[in-house]
Amino acid sequence: GGKEVVQLGEGIRNTLTLLEHKVKSKHIELNVLIPDGLPTVCGWPGELNQVWTNLIDNAIDAMPDGGKLEISSQPDRQAEGLEFVLTKVIDNGPGIPADIQDKIFEPFFTTKPIGKGTGLGLDIVQGVIKHHNGSIKVNSKPGRTEFSICLPVQ
Ligand code: ADP
Ligand code: MG
Repeated sequence: GGKEVVQLGEGIRNTLTLLEHKVKSKHIELNVLIPDGLPTVCGWPGELNQVWTNLIDNAIDAMPDGGKLEISSQPDRQAEGLEFVLTKVIDNGPGIPADIQDKIFEPFFTTKPIGKGTGLGLDIVQGVIKHHNGSIKVNSKPGRTEFSICLPVQ
């Protein structure tokens, strides 16, 4: 299909509704900070929902015995007045070991047992973000992992 006007908050909330049961069953405290009137982006809502699904799934997997999951979106103005929406998915799981941080976006890279992980989640995420002319960064240390997704405003 063609590009559509996308309200990120809507897609994130829909995704969370689908994953709510999993979040609750692992005793994960959820905090969603998405203001009304967040600028819209232009893109493919189904693809973007895969981004939220994969990132939230990873955060849940990182906190099997509970923790905190925070998802926030905010407008972000960069150089030359370019406007973006910056979305962060933050968990307080164990973190991503420094020596594998540059491998996690590679297809089929996984640290999960066979049958639990395909290693394709972040490869898909990265592809979708590129398709939307955005960028993704990870910042992780023991006890805190933050994925930041920057998407250009419509
Ligand atoms: P999969 O989830 O199938 O393993 P992904 O591409 O989604 O594949 O993630 C690749 C790897 O990155 C994971 O196996 C895990 O080691 C690491 N990872 C991703 N997100 C997190 C996170 N929030 N906390 C800790 N490790 C993570
Ligand atoms: Mg995954």
